[in-house]
Amino acid sequence: MKKVLLFAIIGILGITLFASAATLTQRLSGYILLQVQANGEAWYVNPTDSMRYYMKDGAVAYQMMRDFGLGITDADLAKIPAVSSTSAMNASASICSINTTANRLKGKILIQVQQHGEAWYIYPKTCRSIYMKDGQAAYEIMRFLGLGITNNDLTLIPVNQNSGTTPTASTPTTAIKFEGRYIDVHLHITPIAMSLADIIKNMDAQGMDMAVIMKPPASIIDTPQSTSGIPDAAVQYPDRFIALYGGEAVTMLEKAATSGSYTKADEEKYTSLLETEMKSGQYKGFGEIGLRHFVPAGDKNPTAYDLTIPGDHPWMFIMSDIAAKYDVPIDIHMEATDETVKGLESLLDHNKNTKIIWDHASWSNTDQATPALISQLMTKHPNLYSSIKIRSENSTSAVYIYDNKGQITSEWLTLLKKYSDRFMIGSDIKPGRNADEFLIIKTHRNFLEQLPSEILKPIERDNAIKLFKIN
Ligand SMILES: [Zn+2]
Repeated sequence: MKKVLLFAIIGILGITLFASAATLTQRLSGYILLQVQANGEAWYVNPTDSMRYYMKDGAVAYQMMRDFGLGITDADLAKIPAVSSTSAMNASASICSINTTANRLKGKILIQVQQHGEAWYIYPKTCRSIYMKDGQAAYEIMRFLGLGITNNDLTLIPVNQNSGTTPTASTPTTAIKFEGRYIDVHLHITPIAMSLADIIKNMDAQGMDMAVIMKPPASIIDTPQSTSGIPDAAVQYPDRFIALYGGEAVTMLEKAATSGSYTKADEEKYTSLLETEMKSGQYKGFGEIGLRHFVPAGDKNPTAYDLTIPGDHPWMFIMSDIAAKYDVPIDIHMEATDETVKGLESLLDHNKNTKIIWDHASWSNTDQATPALISQLMTKHPNLYSSIKIRSENSTSAVYIYDNKGQITSEWLTLLKKYSDRFMIGSDIKPGRNADEFLIIKTHRNFLEQLPSEILKPIERDNAIKLFKIN
């Protein structure tokens, strides 16, 4: 205790009392602050929103690792030198000015997504990393590296409402509730029909913080990607859009699978296109790939044709290997049949490092993509993810996520709890193509409102943040 106090007092001297709130927050971003004029309560200044969060104990520290942990690849993590203990950390020199990766991530908690979710803290003072085994270790390490702060200075840094129990309150930790904002991982936009500014205005109104955009599969009129705002929207507004690649190579894939033939030269071109596009850094995945796409029944002017790309098609394996190489996911549209599920399993097995998002959970034309099937596949394949699309046309189907009272069914709830790290929202709305598309978001928000607090954040945004490496 005395040691903590001593460190705390040294810390206070380092803080300029007259610094403005903004400069102070900026300077202390990513640090743990210890309230030395009270009982040494610890606050984490989250670099992402510049707000402070009360870190009551090891359990709260664990929750913080889950909520704020940013996914990082092994390759990126390797760029940041690690120290083995807090004393080694205090003895080491700062590398912030020479290590750009570490400098960008300083003060953040990183999660090793290619391993088993190991957590690391990048100490903002030295820009070096330290491993945190669990919540208790995180609590002790971050506290030990903390800075003392006066009550006066602390009040200059805003408290986040979700910060849990504050030291003055004696109530138990408040449940995490849906606050109306989320990340949507499946959108098809048409900027020539609705401007990007208008799309963003609607996103704001619906609480959609970010949207993953992609070209739809099996388009009858094979419009260029740019008509779908890809990757332009993501280049113009990188904090609102993430683009998946579905351009020329994907059209080649659809043709090769439909005709059943291709040449060696075709395959070389296909492979090099996928490589080049991923290397460009403009895309964070492949999609939407139509392993099985139906012509909508009763559609007088169908925009899509009937498409089958076997999951074990050699070119799917090529795409899978390139996706693993660049650590990006593949978004799959697949009506479930015995045969297509078998193909998907081959694809999942081909390269276990490739993350596959089987989109449109709770939606189907075959009624076979039931929670029971998804559960079985997720158990067998840790690289299988899913995005949820809710439409009332499926309300009588065995795949539907709601019961007849509009509540999440118990079977679905069990599955969502079991694999809360694999599900995301992917509304599949088409702003600019259909009128009032944004109204469809309402039912997805209603779904998030119903989620129990322990699984809300991963499904609302954290899984998307990790999968698409959103900073
Ligand atoms: Zn689709």
